[in-house]
Amino acid sequence: MKFNPEKYRIPDERMKPFIDAAEIDEMLLNARPDKSVVRDIVAKSLDKNRLSLAETAMLLNANDPTLVEEIKEGAHRLKKAVYGNRIVLFAPLYIGNKCTNNCQYCGFRTSNKDAVRTTLSTGEIIAEVEALEDQGQKRLILVFGEHPDYSPRFIADAARTVYSVKKGNGEIRRVNINAAPQEIEGFRIVKEAGIGTYQVFQETYHPEAYKIYHLSGKKRDYNYRLTSLDRAQEAGLDDVGIGALFGLYDWRFEVMGLIRHTNHLEACYNVGPHTISFPRVKDASAIVMNDNYQVSDYDFARMVAILRLAVPYTGMILTAREPAAIRTELMRFGISQIDGGTRIELGAYARDAMADQNLDKEQFKINDDRTLGEIIDELIDTDHIPSFCTACYRLGRTGEHFMEFSVPGFIKNFCSPNAMLTLAEYIEDYATPETARKGYEIIEKNLQQLNGNVNAGEVRKRIERIRMGERDLYF
Ligand code: SAM
Ligand code: SF4
Repeated sequence: MKFNPEKYRIPDERMKPFIDAAEIDEMLLNARPDKSVVRDIVAKSLDKNRLSLAETAMLLNANDPTLVEEIKEGAHRLKKAVYGNRIVLFAPLYIGNKCTNNCQYCGFRTSNKDAVRTTLSTGEIIAEVEALEDQGQKRLILVFGEHPDYSPRFIADAARTVYSVKKGNGEIRRVNINAAPQEIEGFRIVKEAGIGTYQVFQETYHPEAYKIYHLSGKKRDYNYRLTSLDRAQEAGLDDVGIGALFGLYDWRFEVMGLIRHTNHLEACYNVGPHTISFPRVKDASAIVMNDNYQVSDYDFARMVAILRLAVPYTGMILTAREPAAIRTELMRFGISQIDGGTRIELGAYARDAMADQNLDKEQFKINDDRTLGEIIDELIDTDHIPSFCTACYRLGRTGEHFMEFSVPGFIKNFCSPNAMLTLAEYIEDYATPETARKGYEIIEKNLQQLNGNVNAGEVRKRIERIRMGERDLYF
């Protein structure tokens, strides 16, 4: 028989839309889990395997409260075993809120004439970053509306400005971006500024629902947005963040969409998303939302636990949109990054304006306005190590979340030591005496757990060097 290479060619699915709503509906309709199925799936995840779409659908349909508890317990165990007790901290920095899109849930939408439009000048960005450095921040995410003024070059310049600001021992070591989807060339330009993650949220993966919320502007094109992170990958920007805005459509469908998106990126580019975000819609200037799809706190916790189990090696972000109590609870089930000291009104860090909740100046209402110091105190009190680590990204160790998961000893050799080193820096430069006391206590406790580890002695030495005034030490 004649050899037919076509028969063996793997179809190239890059840059192609990949959501089949009917297929997801069918999976959700047909998933009827019983106790043993749910237990097997949780065990598979705890055994360090990511879950298939069909398995995820089973967990999503497990409504029996005892099974929900088992899922949450599984996520808690996975989180502890795989990630340990670190929580990475960052802050958002809104650069500009001009917008030509018309997203019905967002205070920045073009049709909202009450919104006060502002774009920070270079001088204003510098003032914001200095104020953020004075808090002790090391990692920022820059946020932009979608507008011709915010070109790839503008975004890249903003990132460069942020990196250039050094105040005292302060510096920003990682700048992530949340902005409009770009063409391949645009992503390349932004990447050249040395950014970390580029986030684009699909908002809703359901194509019909998407049309209802996105009335005009470039964002109306569902497929263009869906394939945006493919274009990032094609541009060599392999560190990407996906997300869905919960409250626009059925939460189960959105989780399936996020997993399908993860599969797609893994299959086409060999690298899954670095982070997943799952904001719930919050009140915003002049929005009228239909409450049909609001996600209750109960379902939200379930959702976080299921995502943790489904994609065990992906970073999970929970922002100050959520109240402190929910953030604290959900850290148990898999959250790995939170923002602290958040202000989303443009220019608010430098003015030291506590969020005055003037919705006309903000994208939406935040519900956790604690300072970074207060959040660090709470993290330490709840036995977490606050971390500002940026080592992997700066050493070119991309896919670090995968390494945490798959490389034996990675957390003990790299993540925990680096978290302690960045906490020691924070203590030396910014902490109150009380935070310093308990901060060094938790460092000591964690150092003891490293005893016997290859670099335990070296970690102690580096902490001493930080106490003597050196900075930016990492493994
Ligand atoms: N303009 C860009 C875009 O739409 O991709 C980037 C930034 S937008 C300012 C960041 C994210 O905020 C959106 O992707 C959306 O998920 C979220 N968001 C918008 N309105 C919100 C609201 N009312 N409550 C919570 N999150 C909201
Ligand atoms: Fe503009 Fe983004 Fe808000 Fe939509 S979500 S209106 S694109 S800022």
